[in-house]
Amino acid sequence: MEKVSKRIAALADSQTLAMNQKSKDLEAQGIDIINLSVGEPDFFTPEHVKEAAKKAIDANYTFYSPVPGYPDLRKAISVKLKEENNLNYSPAQIVVSNGAKHSLANAIMTIIDPGDEVIVLAPYWVSYVELVKLAEGKTVIINTSIENDFKATPAQIEAAITPRTRALLICSPSNPTGSVYTRDELEGIARVIEKHPNIIVLSDEIYEHINFVGKHESIAQFDFIFERVIVINGVSKGYSMTGWRIGYLAAPCWIANACNKLQGQFTSGPSSIAQKASVAAITGDKSFTREMNKAFRRRRDLVIDMMKEIPGMKINIPQGAFYVFPDMSYFFGKTFQGKKIENADDLSLFLLSEAHVASVSGDAFGAPECIRFSYATSDDKLREAFKRIKRSLELLQ
Ligand code: PMP
Ligand code: GLU
Repeated sequence: MEKVSKRIAALADSQTLAMNQKSKDLEAQGIDIINLSVGEPDFFTPEHVKEAAKKAIDANYTFYSPVPGYPDLRKAISVKLKEENNLNYSPAQIVVSNGAKHSLANAIMTIIDPGDEVIVLAPYWVSYVELVKLAEGKTVIINTSIENDFKATPAQIEAAITPRTRALLICSPSNPTGSVYTRDELEGIARVIEKHPNIIVLSDEIYEHINFVGKHESIAQFDFIFERVIVINGVSKGYSMTGWRIGYLAAPCWIANACNKLQGQFTSGPSSIAQKASVAAITGDKSFTREMNKAFRRRRDLVIDMMKEIPGMKINIPQGAFYVFPDMSYFFGKTFQGKKIENADDLSLFLLSEAHVASVSGDAFGAPECIRFSYATSDDKLREAFKRIKRSLELLQ
């Protein structure tokens, strides 16, 4: 009998990865698709990082590493957190995993019991809700609006808290909206959390290095909640290392130890070679990251200028990450060749088939009026993509 567990049957596919695959399948058929679906930097991993990986192979770093990662990598992360973020985490408080997604999964599995509530701010990244579901937790969604730059207020968070609330998930810079919380905004949220000692904050900071407004601000900086914050980060975005699969969390010892136990049963330590490459990334020259940040900023400006020329697209100005997340509801109810565009799913598919541009429907992010476009691709492709999008949207009646 072909029967998967209820747990997996109830799980949704990752829409970001599904759309990326769909786009690649069409490309393989010879169709000229511009893929703005998945979010990953389009730059090659820096040379010094690749060299470190080659050296690691030659030096026979080919055995299991300690479950939470090699001591030198955990030390490098501890120093990075002190120097870049002014956060005091010892290496013992750091667990290295197979990407930030895995770190998030470890953290959620570690702190959530069945029925526990997790506050998630919509629009949210696709995997949060599904990971909470796997842990049999209950997500409590707070909706935000484009007018407020998709940011939640302390009052909204306060109102969502119940005696069952166990965690708050926050992502800044945000995927999918590109919003970046200021220090004051984070402090306002931290003051609410301070009053509720059972709540743990999961702070997803994977886009730390793709920030156009200056210094990265972590909610872990507030001493009065520090003991209840888990920082999630990794090398995927800041060093263009998505395929290397290295992420990490920094947390109070009791949480780090529990994640270590879980990881020891589930996956063991992450790739030995990728860990050595990550040491080079984290301790090495940062000019690559600075240049990449500049390129994303330029592309953000380029894309926003082109979007302003498309009547009906409502936009916020993203201040980090590499996504734009326009409200496209103006186009819902319009028709193309007799077929009605009912929602963002229909519109995203229409753009794929008519403009040959892949995007991700906002539905996957808890914002059914929006569509996400990643601008992590060349300026030329972006120009062509938005020309095609504009032309296709003009066909809608
Ligand atoms: N959090 C967010 C908000 C992301 O966009 C991503 C990238 N998909 C991740 C976590 C996971 O990153 P990684 O590739 O390191 O697993
Ligand atoms: N950060 C990417 C995205 O949101 C990667 C895809 C994923 O890991 O789901 O598109």
